[in-house]
Amino acid sequence: MELTNIKTIEKLFEKYGFSFKKSLGQNFLINPSVCPRMAAASGADKDCGVLEIGPGIGVLTKELSAVAGKVVSVELDSRLIPLLLESLADCDNVKIINSDILKTDVSSLIKQEFGERPVKVCANLPYYITSPVIMGLLEQKLPIDSITVMVQKEAAQRICASPGTRECGAVSLAVSYYCEPKREFSVKRGSFMPAPNVDSEVITLKLRKTPPVNLSDEKMFFKVVRSAFSMRRKTLVNCLSKDFGLSKETLTALLESVSLKPTARAEELSLEKFAEISEMIAKKEY
Ligand code: SAM
Repeated sequence: MELTNIKTIEKLFEKYGFSFKKSLGQNFLINPSVCPRMAAASGADKDCGVLEIGPGIGVLTKELSAVAGKVVSVELDSRLIPLLLESLADCDNVKIINSDILKTDVSSLIKQEFGERPVKVCANLPYYITSPVIMGLLEQKLPIDSITVMVQKEAAQRICASPGTRECGAVSLAVSYYCEPKREFSVKRGSFMPAPNVDSEVITLKLRKTPPVNLSDEKMFFKVVRSAFSMRRKTLVNCLSKDFGLSKETLTALLESVSLKPTARAEELSLEKFAEISEMIAKKEY
């Protein structure tokens, strides 16, 4: 079954009474060249397990099934489950789970479904949950090697931005801490049905074995990062004094002690500077 063929898709939709739900980010891939490239970018092979989020009608799932040892796909929309059982009937290494990825215990799922296999995540993500899905996968410190996902172009820029650049935000800092990000290739809006209003991009986040900075208090690091980016136009001193109950004088002195001006803003700071500041706040060295 050719799952990028419009006639095949329409027949399946008719048979199962399916219509798109915009609220679930349902833009299905119809460009036949994209899924094989995504599956290749994920680096999955027959020794690997792949966790897919949102299989839709199974177009990427089929490609992943051809390269990986096992694929587990989590789909929230129960209307797609009977359709997927038909479209993926030939793929006996695929398991479909009807669940909300944000409410799924992914750690247990990985242990149960993949055992000792190396695990990769590969997905054409529903755009409305791009950040919570990526942050959730990273913060849970799951035993995964990499995350290869299709996201909106602007999201790709932000997620993969280096700390200290204008495009970076709290999510870029988290990604830099946990992963080495790579922008793989662009995908035009016309590659989807229905076509979204923006173009997309496939990115790979390769999980680091050890973080690039040593932190005694990781939670504090992310609290400082979130606070620093909470009001983009304001200086670090203003953001942090509000969230940490420290005086502006104390924070000015703290920033000067790590060679930063009191007018510094979050987007000017490297990962290392964020680490230095959060360590000083965690250890009350001010
Ligand atoms: N993989 C398919 C493709 O490339 O054509 C579909 C991708 S579509 C952008 C996103 C998919 O994620 C849809 O099938 C949608 O129903 C599903 N989805 C939306 N929210 C979800 C959630 N919270 N958990 C799991 N799947 C979800």
